[in-house]
Amino acid sequence: MFSREFVTNRGTRHRLPMFLPVYQPHRLAGLLDGWEDGPAVDGCIVNAYFLYKQRDLKRRLMTEQNLHDYLSFQRLVATDSGAFQGFTRRLYLNNADIVRFQDRIGSDVLAPLDLVTPPGDNRVTAEAKLRATETRIRQALRIVERGVLAGVQQGGRFPDLRHESSSVLRDLGVRYLALGSLVPFFTRNHDIRFVCEVSADARRVIGPDVPIHLYGAGDPCELPFLVASGVSIFDSASYGHFARGGWYMTPYGSLRDIGPIRAGEYRCACPVCPPAMTELPGGDDLFRHNLWTILATMEEITRRLDAGTLAAYLAEVLDVHDAWFPGSALRTSWRTVEDGRDRPASS
Ligand SMILES: [Zn+2]
Repeated sequence: MFSREFVTNRGTRHRLPMFLPVYQPHRLAGLLDGWEDGPAVDGCIVNAYFLYKQRDLKRRLMTEQNLHDYLSFQRLVATDSGAFQGFTRRLYLNNADIVRFQDRIGSDVLAPLDLVTPPGDNRVTAEAKLRATETRIRQALRIVERGVLAGVQQGGRFPDLRHESSSVLRDLGVRYLALGSLVPFFTRNHDIRFVCEVSADARRVIGPDVPIHLYGAGDPCELPFLVASGVSIFDSASYGHFARGGWYMTPYGSLRDIGPIRAGEYRCACPVCPPAMTELPGGDDLFRHNLWTILATMEEITRRLDAGTLAAYLAEVLDVHDAWFPGSALRTSWRTVEDGRDRPASS
């Protein structure tokens, strides 16, 4: 299906699939420590623009202290370029500078300043952003000396443009493929059709050896379907966003009311949740529960892949999810993906 290991240029080895929590050094101290007896945090992703824009920190990272030491974390550290911030406000940043900065501070996986392409972009705009992103990736490949550059696929809502983008990146010889601007496509009612089809097509194009990273995916009930579609690396700040909205993550979907737990339909094994829970946790407890749930879900997916029983796990998730969320599009959208498998690629 896909290679089950990623080796960084520093020589650290990482089991795939893996989840990278979005790490904000000023806010999330302790998050990377993981749990004494629980799922491990094997990597994280940091916004390079956030580090770059703080003059003193930028100087320190470029001269005295590398990124891993700054984070006190020696496992995989990926950086993103700040492209997404540039989507909502103007950035005083150019591609060569932010790529060189990420490489200089020792990021394991770097991102170019790609052009975010929301679903509303028409074909002309999506294609223009695709070409500009390709140009920046070519430039970045010439700059990077230490890390691995993520070739970022764009193409908006057009499957053929995304297919072409994957082909170009393959021909450029990228060792890491990232799927950009897909978040808006899977945040509505668990409709995973487009993102799974794009992922599966990218996997067919790039082959089994190159990791595929889906930017911004972090809902535990969707992760196994994305893995089944060929995605091997995820990152998200979802555990925090969900916690702030009062959402309690489970592998079957997120709850805001304790009903299913009170009914004995789910019991969480994390260090935060007591065996007999009378109300859902809040604040930091909910935050930690959510992150634990994502990491534990990744471990379950890994076990199922090892045992060759991922399909049975998908069926189990769908059964519980349907019972809890009768209006969800998860099952119908996944069925569409499965029915379409025999169609020719990128039609
Ligand atoms: Zn819990």
